[in-house]
Amino acid sequence: MNHWQALNRAIEARGRPVHFWWRDDDAHRYDPQLGSLLALSGRYHAPVTLAVVPQWLQPSLADTLTPHAGRVQCAVHGFAHADHAERPVRKCEYPETRPTADITAELTQGIALLRDALPTHWLPAFVPPWNRFDPTHYPALSAAGFKAFSARYNNEFVPDLQNWPIHIDIINWRDKSFAGLDHCTRSLIDAIETAGEQPIGIMTHHLDHDADCWAYLDQLLGFIAEHDHSTLLPLTTTRAA
Ligand SMILES: [Zn+2]
Repeated sequence: MNHWQALNRAIEARGRPVHFWWRDDDAHRYDPQLGSLLALSGRYHAPVTLAVVPQWLQPSLADTLTPHAGRVQCAVHGFAHADHAERPVRKCEYPETRPTADITAELTQGIALLRDALPTHWLPAFVPPWNRFDPTHYPALSAAGFKAFSARYNNEFVPDLQNWPIHIDIINWRDKSFAGLDHCTRSLIDAIETAGEQPIGIMTHHLDHDADCWAYLDQLLGFIAEHDHSTLLPLTTTRAA
């Protein structure tokens, strides 16, 4: 049985449709890699949520996304993608040591920047850089107007917000290469078996993909599009727990 047959078997064994969703991080301007990502999204009619860094935003992003309205949405990805953690704490823009009031102000500014720059694409959804956000600051998210939150599946869920966790990372960050078919298939099957009704989150980073990442993403989107019992959902701020 090859990897795709194994994935198919896990979907069929579940006995009900499997929902996936797709998040791509670090968008801020047009570049050829973003062009490749949008082409894949178009080819498979695949909704994608771009996690956009407010302080990096350039006008070319809005121009690039205009033809993709309705299929491409934008969430707020931190503010400056800046590391404020003190070692040995791992990289984090929102560590416990920052004042929550500063973070509320920053998040409010971030949401305003996206709303102004990308009025037809922005969502009140927050994606913390490095998937880390200290729980001390959870009240800042609602205070700034966010309705949804997305980090890794093993993070705590944020109370009062809709949570859209990520279950699979297609990159091996040690050498910025494709994480491998074994790893990706195992992650997807684990998620299918344990995620319950939660849509299964696929995380990509268009600026960091090697050729194998692109090839895998193409295959995975094709698999989901063709499978009778799998669907790729858009992130909405009314679905999911
Ligand atoms: Zn990022």
